[in-house]
Amino acid sequence: MSDVRIGIDDLPVRDELRGKSPYGAPQLDVPVRLNTNENPYPLPEPLVERIAERVREAARGLNRYPDRDAVELRTELARYLTRTTGHELSLAHVWAANGSNEVIQQLLQTFGGPGRTAIGFEPSYSMHGLIARGTGTAWISGPRHDDFTVDVEAATKAIAAHQPDVVFITTPNNPTGNAVPAETVLALYEVAQAAKPSIVVVDEAYVEFSHGDSLLPLIEGRPNLVISRTMSKAFGAAGLRLGYLAAHPAVVDAVQLVRLPYHLSAVTQATALAALEHTDTLLKYVDQLKAERDRLVTELRALGYEVTDSDANFVQFGRFADAHEVWTRILDRGVLVRDNGVPGWLRVTAGTPDENDAFLDAVRELKKERH
Ligand code: PMP
Repeated sequence: MSDVRIGIDDLPVRDELRGKSPYGAPQLDVPVRLNTNENPYPLPEPLVERIAERVREAARGLNRYPDRDAVELRTELARYLTRTTGHELSLAHVWAANGSNEVIQQLLQTFGGPGRTAIGFEPSYSMHGLIARGTGTAWISGPRHDDFTVDVEAATKAIAAHQPDVVFITTPNNPTGNAVPAETVLALYEVAQAAKPSIVVVDEAYVEFSHGDSLLPLIEGRPNLVISRTMSKAFGAAGLRLGYLAAHPAVVDAVQLVRLPYHLSAVTQATALAALEHTDTLLKYVDQLKAERDRLVTELRALGYEVTDSDANFVQFGRFADAHEVWTRILDRGVLVRDNGVPGWLRVTAGTPDENDAFLDAVRELKKERH
């Protein structure tokens, strides 16, 4: 073949994409996969049946485009948020898309874009920066303290200096696991409104696993505050691709300027609605995972590892002179964890008790070899 030597950089791709790599958590076929913060429990059989029923119904109408505004789904999501946060919301406050990644992309298409800037406090969810780049939004990497808490003073200075159009705050934060206090979010929101109004996106992908409460009630009276959520984690439905946001209705109106028509398929809407009917059952798994997460923290600390406090379904542990080498040695024992590129640290997702035991056995062996 004559075209084998043609690579991305030989194509007329946008300058800012040259030399970059796509998002790429390894999808390896190993016995214990604790690397992408998925929920380890398959959906319960009655829910699988209900999904099949609702999808069968939807299939009869697939000759037509789906509900463009996903009214029934957004109404049910609003009901879920109202019930779990105590903050009364309706359809008008909620928007849904294919995963919270798409929600974030729509927010950046609406409020970022060429000539505009977004900031996040890193290490944090790497897709915020990658989606910024994909939407032509300049990305600023803001600071954190060494213990991975947000450095409010430095963050305030960075926001005041760069006057970003979009500010990302991830709580609980990925990959570190720690939650950001409401006072910090409020302080940063105030600074972000001072010079010119900016959109503050609070990414609560993991909030159901938190010891504390959702910051969603803070949207009251703050039209530039957006809470982003997902069904990928607590609802155990990463394969469904359903993310959503809660914000002032004006934000919901604004993102509709950039969403593709009929972006949420009828199959997706039907499946998500079925899952929402089973919320109570699914949230019971969350309780189990929280207990397992706490066990991982306790046992890793007992083994002498440093562990960042976790409010998520994963735990960051270290410190290692060469985290990648340790990642490889854990993988040699059949357990896949995540090297997020945070120097000295690795991240493990809370799995089933058996999976967590396999992980703990692997790191226990590593300790023995080192002494
Ligand atoms: N936000 C954070 C902080 C995440 O960790 C993830 C997934 N790893 C997402 C958003 C995106 O999740 P999804 O697109 O599956 O909703």
